[in-house]
Amino acid sequence: MSRFSSSSTPYKSNVICEDTFRDLRLEGKVAIITGGASGIGASTARLFHANGAKVIIADIQDELGRSTAEKLGENAYFVHCDVSKEDDVRDLVDAAVARHGKLDIMYNNAGVLDKPLAGILESTKSDLDKVVSVNVVGAFLGAKHAARVMIPRRKGCILFTASACTSIAGLSSHPYTASKYAIWGLARNLAAEVGEFGVRVNCVSPYAVLSTGMTPISGGAAEVAQMEEMVSEIGNLKGHILKAEDVAMAALFLASDEAHYVSGLNLLVDGGFSVVNPSLP
Ligand code: NAD
Repeated sequence: MSRFSSSSTPYKSNVICEDTFRDLRLEGKVAIITGGASGIGASTARLFHANGAKVIIADIQDELGRSTAEKLGENAYFVHCDVSKEDDVRDLVDAAVARHGKLDIMYNNAGVLDKPLAGILESTKSDLDKVVSVNVVGAFLGAKHAARVMIPRRKGCILFTASACTSIAGLSSHPYTASKYAIWGLARNLAAEVGEFGVRVNCVSPYAVLSTGMTPISGGAAEVAQMEEMVSEIGNLKGHILKAEDVAMAALFLASDEAHYVSGLNLLVDGGFSVVNPSLP
C-alpha cells in the first residue's frame, strides 16, 4: 500500500481500442510481429496496421494467425514461423525483405509460459528447456536475423516482449523469469552494439494481461472475474485491468520515430506496481 493512497475515486481507464490511436505513426513501415496470432501480438498487429504499417504476423498457430491477418485486410498477411527454428526465422526475414525491400520493425513477442505458480522444487529441467527454446532462442534468432538486414540499411527497430518479472521478484516461475531476464540482457547488449548503425533495441515488459492465451486461468468466466478483481487492486492505477492493447500502445511508441532517441529501454507496463510494491529494493 502506498503512503499516497487516498480514498478518492480510483482511476478508471477510458475504453481504449486500436482506433483511438489511428494516426499513421508507422506509415510505410514494414513490421514483423512474432506470436502475432493472439494476445499482445495480435493486438499490436492491429494497432501497427491501423497506424499505416505493413504487418507480417508470424506464428505457429496457422489458422488463428491467418484469420487475424485476414481481418486486417490489405497490407497484412500471415507467415508460419516457429521462432525456435533458425531456418524459419531466416526465411521469415528474407521473405519480408524480398517482398517489401526492407524491414523496419522486428517485434520478437512470441513466448510460452511453463508452470506459473511452481516453486523451485516443482520446476524441472524440461520446464526450463521449454521456455528457453522459445523465449530465449526465439528472441535471439529474431534479433540476429533482423540485425543482419537492418545494419546495412543503417536503420531499424528491434523490440522484445520481456515481462514485469524483470523488475518484480516473485511474480512468475523461475524458468520463465530466467528466460525473460535473458531477453532483457540480450536487448541491452544488442542496443550497445547496434546503436551506431541506427538500429534501436528496446523491451516492453507487461504485468499480467488476463485476456491472452498465456493467462494461467483454466476456469471459466467466474475465475476470470475473480482474477480481474484481484489484479485491479494492484499497482497505483487501481481499477484498471491491463489489456493487451495497453501493451500494444507501449510497443507502438517504441516502434515509432517519436522514440528515435530511445534505445536500451525496458519499458514497464505495470500500472506502477513496481513502484508501490514495498518488497522492491
Ligand atoms: P499468447 O499466448 O496469447 O500469445 C503468444 C503467442 O506466441 C501465441 O500466438 C503462440 O502461438 C505464439 N508462439 C508460441 N510459441 C511459438 C513459437 N515457437 N514460434 C512462434 N510463435 C509461437 O500470450 P501473450 O500474453 O500475448 O504473450 C505474448 C508475449 O507477452 C509473450 O512473450 C509473453 O511471455 C509475454 N508476456 C505476457 C504476459 C501476460 O500476462 N499475458 C505478461 C508478461 C509478458
